Amino acid sequence: MTDTCKAGCMTTTPDIVIPEDMKPSDGRFGCGPSRVRPAQIESLAIDAPLYMGTSHRQATVKSVVHHIREGLTNLFSLPDGYEVVLGNGGSTCFWDAATFCLIQQRSQHLVFGEFSSKFAKAAKAAPHLGEPDVIESEYGSHPDPRFDPAVDAYCLTHNETSTGVAMEIVRPRPLAVNPGEAAAGEVGGGGSGQTASAGEHEAAALVLVDATSAAGGLRVDAKEYDTYYFAPQKCFASDGGLWIALMSPAAVERVEHIGGIGRWVPAFLDLKIAIDNSRLDQTYNTPALATLHMLANQIDWMLASGGLEWTAGRCDRSAEIIYSWAEASGYAKPYVSDPASRSHVVATIDFVDAIDASVIARVLRANGIVDTEPYRKLGRNQLRVGMFPSVEPDDIAALCACIAHVASSLSV
Ligand SMILES: *Cc1c(COP(=O)(O)O)cnc(C)c1O
Repeated sequence: MTDTCKAGCMTTTPDIVIPEDMKPSDGRFGCGPSRVRPAQIESLAIDAPLYMGTSHRQATVKSVVHHIREGLTNLFSLPDGYEVVLGNGGSTCFWDAATFCLIQQRSQHLVFGEFSSKFAKAAKAAPHLGEPDVIESEYGSHPDPRFDPAVDAYCLTHNETSTGVAMEIVRPRPLAVNPGEAAAGEVGGGGSGQTASAGEHEAAALVLVDATSAAGGLRVDAKEYDTYYFAPQKCFASDGGLWIALMSPAAVERVEHIGGIGRWVPAFLDLKIAIDNSRLDQTYNTPALATLHMLANQIDWMLASGGLEWTAGRCDRSAEIIYSWAEASGYAKPYVSDPASRSHVVATIDFVDAIDASVIARVLRANGIVDTEPYRKLGRNQLRVGMFPSVEPDDIAALCACIAHVASSLSV
């Protein structure tokens, strides 16, 4: 087997056979689309004759959407007044919708990877918005938000899928209890040590969180965000193409306010239309029915297993296994140097120069273990591993053993 790659690197895949009893029970470790549990597919096959190919405006499909909205309300322990809103187009589409309907004038973006940079670019390009405040940090770390009374939307990313960096979601607050003092100083930041109680400034700005790869696998407190949006092809083990947003009353109010100021909004990106449809358990235009079904099944599975605490605990175990394996290996190490920023849903593992990670990924692929390649634009000698809730921690341990097997076969 040959492959195109940079001059000097190995272009053929060495013929290394991984013993069957060493392999994980399922060979899918991608970061999206990610492993779908076989039970989801079986359940869809059972329901298909009366479900697939039927109208999304009738009770059969609407009951699934209702089930999803109710299930997510429970999974995320949403406070009264929060709404679950759905629309077509995935998280990428939601950035544009947010640019039209949630950012009033000035947004602040924390940029620390490909995904967070795309939303910042969208806000920068929007002619109806002011210049966004973009705070960057080196890839492999994350910046902290800065409280700023001039900002009306803080745009955070719970998990940067391109780098494997996760950050705690904390509403930016002025440090000082006295609001006058707070407004004057450059204070704030995402640390959890902030002590100010709820004040006027907080009510004004929204916290918008890209949780595409985090939602369902990392812990989060709904009081710390106004919109937590994601797509179903990561922790929710379904297909892409849909966006889901958990919206606070303040976020819904912002949408209504912007609807009243005469800003032109394309209907497909109009969150008011999306909210109105979601309240009727529908989407504005036709959704993919299989996607909804697999998503509903995954939410049920998460809730029946113990909810977000259970899924997050499972991801904690997977993360503990892979990061401690890498640190002990002698030839691999976690890319993210600060242990507190290492994602528990997406692991990025660097290799020493003597071992070509792309060869490991190719050998794994030839053995049925797929999608461990790093994010293409990061350009590192690295493997990236999806550890979403559907992945058994035992499979992460088996993957580590397989990587070690390939690495030792390569170096002899
Ligand atoms: C996957 C991903 C996206 C893009 O999601 P789409 O549904 O493909 O648009 C955006 N943000 C993050 C953090 C992601 O992981």
